[in-house]
Amino acid sequence: MIDEKRIDDVYRRLYEEAEASGYHLNPEVTFTKSLIEGLLTNEDRYGYWSCPCRIAEGDKAYDLDIICPCDYRDPDLDEYGACYCALYVSQEILEGKQQAQPVPERRPDVPPQLAKQGAASVAAEEGSVPVWRCRVCGYLCARENPPGVCPVCKAKKDRFERFGFGRAS
Ligand code: SF4
Repeated sequence: MIDEKRIDDVYRRLYEEAEASGYHLNPEVTFTKSLIEGLLTNEDRYGYWSCPCRIAEGDKAYDLDIICPCDYRDPDLDEYGACYCALYVSQEILEGKQQAQPVPERRPDVPPQLAKQGAASVAAEEGSVPVWRCRVCGYLCARENPPGVCPVCKAKKDRFERFGFGRAS
């Protein structure tokens, strides 16, 4: 059982972060808080915010794509107006102009981060800096290491992937 104050604190923080970044939490507050309770339960169980609507493996590398906000949030918002759990909804659903609909599972059988392990890695070029891509929202930046938090969607550092290399200035 998760403490109510902890849920409320996370709800407030997520709400503010979402609104500041162009996202919206589901306006059904009781429902939204129940999802947050699921996230916190998973945090206590696994040490990370595994999606409350999916069965986690309990291995962070395996579950990386379903750590909230998951890799599938933005495409699901674009196509269905809500993420798989409906924690995040579109402006249209927020304003009642569109009905929420069931969102099919977009996650492939083999998580993308595992599928990539077999692919050849990109060789670093002399005088280049790595380009990092936020797997959640697609934000790109060229720097030695990924930022601690995505400035757009607030996903954490471990959600960035090496995208290629850019020329150092
Ligand atoms: S953003 Fe993804 S991980 Fe988070 S609640 Fe929605 S579907 Fe689950």
